[in-house]
Order: sequence, then C-alpha cells, then structure tokens
Amino acid sequence: MDTYDLIVIGGGSGGLACARRAAEYGARVLLAEAGRLGGTCVNVGCVPKKVMWNAAQIAHGVHDGPGYGFSLTQGPHHWDKLKEGRDAYVLRLNGIYERNLAGSKVELARGYARLVAPGAVEIGDRRVTAPRVMIATGGRPWVPSLSGAELGITSDGFFELPRRPERVAVVGAGYIAVELAGVFQALGSKVQLVVRSTVLRHFDEMLGQAWLAIARDQGIEVVTQAVPQALSREAGALKLQLTDGRAVGPVDCVLWAVGREPLTAGIGLREAGVKLDAAGYVVTDRFQDTNVEGIHAIGDVTGRAPLTPVAIAAGRRWSDRVFGGKAGRHLDYDNIPTVVFSHPPIGTVGLTEAQARAAHGDAVKVYSAGFVPMYHALTPEKPKAQMKLVCVGPEEKVVGVHTIGPGSDEMIQGFGVAVKMGATKQDFDDTVAVHPTSAEEFVTMR
Ligand SMILES: Cc1cc2nc3c(=O)[nH]c(=O)nc-3n(C[C@H](O)[C@H](O)[C@H](O)COP(=O)(O)OP(=O)(O)OC[C@H]3O[C@@H](n4cnc5c(N)ncnc54)[C@H](O)[C@@H]3O)c2cc1C
Repeated sequence: MDTYDLIVIGGGSGGLACARRAAEYGARVLLAEAGRLGGTCVNVGCVPKKVMWNAAQIAHGVHDGPGYGFSLTQGPHHWDKLKEGRDAYVLRLNGIYERNLAGSKVELARGYARLVAPGAVEIGDRRVTAPRVMIATGGRPWVPSLSGAELGITSDGFFELPRRPERVAVVGAGYIAVELAGVFQALGSKVQLVVRSTVLRHFDEMLGQAWLAIARDQGIEVVTQAVPQALSREAGALKLQLTDGRAVGPVDCVLWAVGREPLTAGIGLREAGVKLDAAGYVVTDRFQDTNVEGIHAIGDVTGRAPLTPVAIAAGRRWSDRVFGGKAGRHLDYDNIPTVVFSHPPIGTVGLTEAQARAAHGDAVKVYSAGFVPMYHALTPEKPKAQMKLVCVGPEEKVVGVHTIGPGSDEMIQGFGVAVKMGATKQDFDDTVAVHPTSAEEFVTMR
C-alpha cells in the first residue's frame, strides 16, 4: 500500500490546482482522475464554450460588416470544422495538464476513486492512504425525470454534436442556457428558449430583462411560464409537451440546461460520515474542511459559486494553508466577478440591487445608464447596453457593478478589483474616463 501526504480525487480545475500547489511545497501528492484531465472546464465547460462563443461573435461581426463597408456574402458555416479545431485544442490542453502535473511531481492515477475509510482510497484494484483527502469531483448536468427526457441532450452532449441542428429548444434559464441558446442562434439555428419564469434569476434583474429584449430582437423565441411534462419523437422530430397543454416543436434537438448535480454518490462519503446537504453537496467550512478530520472538499462539489477560478482559488489557498505554512489562508466567497458569455456579454460583481435593498434598505442608491454603444452606430440593429452601480451608505460604497453590452466580459475584472478594495462612488468619479469606450459610463454616472 502506498502512502502520500495528500490524495486528491478529481483532476478538474480545483483538484489540479490544489495538487500542484501542495506538491510545490514538497508534499507527496497523488491525484486520481476517472476521465479526461482538466475536468468540466477544459473538456465540456468554459474552454470549448468560449471557442463556440468566439465563433458566434464572428458570425455577429459578419452580420454587422456591411455597415462598416464590407461587402460580405455569408457562406455556410461548417460546424464540423469548428468542432474539429475545438476538439484538437482541448486535446492539446489535456496533454499540457498531464505534463504540468508531471512537472510538479504529482503522481497521476487514472481511474475511478472512492474512499474506503477516512484516509484510505481505492482506485481500481489499488489502495492508497494519506492523512488528508481532497474531494474535488465536481458535478454533472442534471436531467429532469420525465417521460422521454433521454431524447434530449445536455451541455455535455452539446459539445458532441457533429453538426448544427436546424431547430433547437433549450430548456433552462441560467447562464448555460442563455449562452448555448446564443451560440446556436448566431450560427444559424432557429432557437426557442423554454423558461419557467424569467432568465438569469440569480443576477441583477436589469441584466435578464436587457438580455431578453436583445435576444428576442436577434430572433430567439422565448417561451415563458413553461413547465416541461414529456419529450417525444414524432415523425423524426422532437416535441416537448408542457404541463399547461402547450407544446414546443417540432425541433431537431432539445437541450436540458436546468441545473447541475454534485458527483458525491457512491464514492464512500456517506460511509465515512461526511456531511452532505439535501442536494448532495459536500458541506465545508471556510477552510474547505468537512466535518470529518482529514477529508476536505473544493469546487463545484461544495455547491458554492460553481466557477473555475473559485475552485482553483479554494484549492490553492487550502494548500497554502496546509502545506505552505500560511495560517488562516482561505477563500473569501464575497464579490466574485463573473461573466455570462451571451451576445452581447454580461459582467457582474457584488450584490444585485434586490440583495442590496434587502440587506441595506433605504441606504441603497443606484446609478444606471442605458445607451446604444458606438459600435452599433453603423450597424442595422441598435441593441442597448445597460449598466448599473449599486451603492450603499452615506459614503456610497460600491457594492454591485452590473453590465450588459459589448466588452462587458473584459471590463468586469478590473471593476471586480475596485469592489473588492471597497471603492466608493467618489473613487469611481475621481477616475478619468477611457474614451471612447462603454466602460467610461461607469466613471461618469450621475
Ligand atoms: C457548459 C459550461 C460552461 C461553463 N462556463 C464557465 C465559465 O465560462 N467560467 C467559469 O468560471 N466556469 C464555467 N463553468 C463551470 C466550471 O466548469 C466549473 O465550475 C469547474 O469546472 C469546477 O471545477 P471542479 O474542479 O470543482 O470540478 P470539475 O472540473 O468538474 O472536475 C471534477 C473532476 O473529477 C473527476 N471525478 C469525478 N468523480 C471522480 C472519482 N470518483 N474518481 C476520480 N475522478 C473523479 C471528473 O472526471 C472531473 O474530471 C462552466 C460549466 C459548464 C458545464
């Protein structure tokens, strides 16, 4: 039996970062991975998604070209060629991750791992032990249990599509639904977005409303108040029956983007006495420790802010504290900036207006701006950018920054720094604008 200082289960964003950082401090680390290195983000998440978003951006650019004097005839788009390039890129990344692990002297064990006792892990027929085990198994798309659900695909299946379906129903209202609906639409599919109430519910209301208006103008049909009941195939096409008697379809593809679930079943957590919440997520404290000594968890499996940089930061900070002697080091989950890669993109950090009002009542002051970005001065459509600053107290501390419009994706990182540092509206006002940009609105709001 081999003994290590740390066993990491899961070679995704969090597991890789945690393992490599621990090894940098001299720890003997074994990382178990059942699938492809890089996990969700690299294989079926952020990375291939961003490639598809880039393709969709180009499609929008081609559409807008004539206004800028280009005589363009939009030829057919070759989804298969795009997929080939994207898959090759992801494969390269898989290799880079493997080499990086080896370079950091982390031992890689390929196979499905499960805890057999606190500190003991089985990977295939191999048994290894360590005083510390990090659970970084992430999650997978959730599929509703209704008749015919298996006829649909999930975001994982989206990345396997060999060709673009002509007619698509995307079921869901979160950021993955919004992003994938946008990609399909931009690349030429007829898209219906099927939502229970509204979109992007966990974001500032302004963002969902602004996106809906733009998406409808782009040709996405939004089917609201829709609760799926059954999915069936009729005459070669799919039909999504709703509970109120309406039906969506015929379509060629139904994509479930209705949430994700943690990969915590069957890996020995319950048997080891690790506390899971009602949805199966591992309960951790601010140090990523579970209730069982020597068992820790990071990333999506903890159900907190399921984003790649969050998993990475939590993993690195944990290793800094445990193996690097940095006492007290942990991730602060407040004010995490994030982007929805829609068209146009959304950037957000901090409290929504509703959250701020619930927490601070009348002490909240909101500044907002809505305008047609200069880029659209020469394009046929005039989608509006919207921006909002949520401020609190007499000093007008900026507690929320929300934006939808071209460039919002790259804009929000810097504003994230300002919010994290506790900037006030006066600090924003005192910053000289960068002109001509959309971002300058944030420092000129009145
Ligand atoms: C479509 C999509 C788009 C996304 N876009 C973004 C984005 O733009 N930006 C962003 O920040 N985040 C994005 N995310 C979220 C991001 O991918 C996750 O937050 C991130 O991957 C979580 O990292 P993790 O290490 O917790 O888990 P994962 O990356 O899921 O890694 C877990 C790994 O554990 C392995 N594993 C599971 N069980 C076992 C076992 N028993 N034994 C061995 N190995 C096991 C899995 O095979 C997997 O490789 C997106 C996700 C999706 C689905």
